[in-house]
Amino acid sequence: MGLKYLRGVSTLKLDEPKCTGCGMCAQVCPHAVLEMDGRKARITDPDLCMECGACAGNCPAAAITLKKGVGCAAAVITGFIKGTEPVCGCGEGGDDCC
Ligand code: SF4
Ligand code: SF4
Repeated sequence: MGLKYLRGVSTLKLDEPKCTGCGMCAQVCPHAVLEMDGRKARITDPDLCMECGACAGNCPAAAITLKKGVGCAAAVITGFIKGTEPVCGCGEGGDDCC
């Protein structure tokens, strides 16, 4: 089982009608978040997504959108090191996203 980040906070979105089935996203995703289901990509488990942006950056159909960043991964790591709850500090106006 892969490393999960914060549950339910991934910004990863797949616009399935736009997908042309090229398979690039499934090839480049380091966590197997995306896989091919026939001629369409599908999200396996959004909680596995580290929001690296590789899938969206390699999608020729602009079918994938996400808020790229390291905030949640950084929050998990910082929390683990400090022994605290994950807090990323990436929020605007003082509100963290995590
Ligand atoms: S953002 Fe990165 S980890 Fe998330 S689905 Fe895309 S390639 Fe995979
Ligand atoms: S890279 Fe884009 S077009 Fe290609 S399979 Fe993935 S979502 Fe579909």
